[in-house]
Amino acid sequence: MKYNRLGRAGLKLSELSFGAWITFGAQLDVAAVKKSMRLAFERGVNFFDNAEAYGGGAAERLMGEALKDFKRSDVVVSTKIFWGGKGPNDKGLNRKHLIEGTYAALERLDLDYVDLLYCHRPDPETPIDETVRAMDFLIRAGHAFYWGTSEWSAAEIERAHEVARELGCVPPSMEQPEYNLLHRDRVEKEYLPLYGRFGMGTTTWSPLASGILSGKYDHGIPKGSRLDRVEWLREYLTAEKVEKTRALGAIARQLGCTTAQLSIAWCLKNPHVSSVILGASNERQLEENLAAAEVRDRLDDALLAEIDAAVR
Ligand code: NDP
Repeated sequence: MKYNRLGRAGLKLSELSFGAWITFGAQLDVAAVKKSMRLAFERGVNFFDNAEAYGGGAAERLMGEALKDFKRSDVVVSTKIFWGGKGPNDKGLNRKHLIEGTYAALERLDLDYVDLLYCHRPDPETPIDETVRAMDFLIRAGHAFYWGTSEWSAAEIERAHEVARELGCVPPSMEQPEYNLLHRDRVEKEYLPLYGRFGMGTTTWSPLASGILSGKYDHGIPKGSRLDRVEWLREYLTAEKVEKTRALGAIARQLGCTTAQLSIAWCLKNPHVSSVILGASNERQLEENLAAAEVRDRLDDALLAEIDAAVR
């Protein structure tokens, strides 16, 4: 396993990490979460991603249970705050929810601090200085070591840096954007000026576009798969994406790997990606996806051009 710095920060993240969205609680019970996290850790994964919204808090509880078997300094744990509940102040990036939401997440995780704390979406209803000051407070109080954003525009991230500088607050260190062969522009174009200017790290999500890039939907929706179970995600499965995934499948066959491994390995080739967060609903998928790091080294310029052509 390769370890990358989180942008200009000194923290080292395994280039492949493991996240809890949808799977923890709904598909993986406590025993399966423990086994999966242990397997990932044994393969070199040191970063585990979560959010207050995942399973309405259940994913943090399960991860917290599994983390009891780890030495705290061996792992990097994140959570994300935005969707905390139904009340008017249980949502968004206002000072009250950011701080109360973090306290509640720490309680569920049974941790004294998280390493990474994200603002899970931008909040147009909260002034940016209020959010920056609240994140600064959480860092200074020791509840988190680094803070970042998820799916903020480049302009919003830039504004957060300006405000942090003006107020003498800790600036954000990282962004958590979607990044995969079917969703590239933000990471490759929009954020381009931010990497050098702010030393921004990225922990990227949905490397398989919820499984589409494994090729499992090339001939319809298999029973029990994510798109079978989660209705609102089905709109992302289009004929164009299936066609692209089939073309990727042909390249993967040439290489002697799976379409999922090729798709994950491709994400690893981007030097602006600090860690690719994997999702897996069982150990077999996790094993397969973790082996993508070996495929990365075989992706030369000619193959990258073939992949580009397949998804153009
Ligand atoms: P993926 O795009 O890799 O999708 C993972 C899902 O695809 C699995 O749960 C499984 O679903 C299927 N799958 C995975 N591997 C294989 C395989 N080898 N063969 C066949 N099917 C496979 O990642 P996620 O969308 O889960 O995102 C990863 C993590 O990123 C999340 O856990 C979360 O931590 C983070 N995230 C962050 C977001 C944010 O807003 N910041 C948003 C979304 C995710 P199944 O078996 O059920 O079909």
